[in-house]
Amino acid sequence: EDAAGGGGESETQEGGPANTHVVAHHYNELKEGGRRDRQKSKIFFMRNFNNWMKSQLINEYMALIKESKRVGDALRVLDMCCGKGGDLLKWEKAAITHIICTDIAEVSVEQCQRRYQDILERAEKSKYANKFTAEFFACDSTLVRLRERYKDVTLQLNLVSCQFAFHYCFESPGQADCMMRNAAECLEPGGYFIATMPDAFEIMRRKRKAGPDAKSFGNDVYNIKFDCETDPLPLFGAKYQFHLEGVVDCPEFLVHFPTLVKLGRKYGLKLVRKTTFADYYKEVLPHGRNLLQRMSGLESVQPQRYGNDEQFAHVSEFQASQRGRPLGTLSKSEWEATTLYLVCAFQKCKNTWDA
Ligand code: SAM
Repeated sequence: EDAAGGGGESETQEGGPANTHVVAHHYNELKEGGRRDRQKSKIFFMRNFNNWMKSQLINEYMALIKESKRVGDALRVLDMCCGKGGDLLKWEKAAITHIICTDIAEVSVEQCQRRYQDILERAEKSKYANKFTAEFFACDSTLVRLRERYKDVTLQLNLVSCQFAFHYCFESPGQADCMMRNAAECLEPGGYFIATMPDAFEIMRRKRKAGPDAKSFGNDVYNIKFDCETDPLPLFGAKYQFHLEGVVDCPEFLVHFPTLVKLGRKYGLKLVRKTTFADYYKEVLPHGRNLLQRMSGLESVQPQRYGNDEQFAHVSEFQASQRGRPLGTLSKSEWEATTLYLVCAFQKCKNTWDA
């Protein structure tokens, strides 16, 4: 019954699972393009959209946390697999007081720290900006106990966020257990662990649709190629090569969601939300529409249909004309890529029995 424990992963000579090195290398090598490069990207709209989805998720759970706090109380966050710090502005806006940022890719952590310094400098000049403290370190969250690296090992967190990254730990039971313990163990009761990750169910649905002879499937912005036995699929190490235009090209692992829930329970985390991106978009659009418009730099956003999926359309002559697309829409390929994901949230219980 216990999903955790055990090992079974292929080890490298330095020790540690083989794929984490590949993943770290991939993200370390990733160049940070300027806004101009991003605008040229085939997934420009999707990146804005994903950013907006993260904002919605962060704001939803920060609001719940604040409901149980008094003005002036500390709000501490762990951004696990923080990357280059793409969410730092979201944390600033959420008025947190302290953040711990960690990622396996040292280069990304350095960029994240620089981004934080920029935010701090701006905040120094402005009376109104929110100043928050931060700590940074590079490490593998699937192998290392993070709390031992915190400046204060007794620190209690209000929120742990792991965006587009938790699936990397499903390489082996030991790694998944370690990552879940890292997410849970410093959360105070009532605190939340929030994540976005690929939806294994949706990936397998598309694989079946592609047919038994298809070596890979996807479209012009994403591609998935399985690199393991798929009949039956293993609970851990269900490896596939994921390619996302210009951003990701590395091995990933299917997250068996019932196993994730069981692992959470082991560490006192109770599942409170599991929603596909397509459904979460519909749920949050009514109150998130203005922010989506601002984040996309667009004048208005309207739902549009792709098959059965309602999807937003950017009404922006400016950007659309630059890209030779129907007036300002998230392309069908981008919509298919973004709807590979789900959002989930867990709440920390007083003791594991409650979870
Ligand atoms: N969370 C960031 C965001 O939303 O912009 C970055 C997401 S990026 C798709 C995935 C990140 O997970 C990369 O920065 C990568 O280095 C990190 N990562 C992958 N495996 C990891 C591990 N075992 N430990 C820590 N970070 C890891």
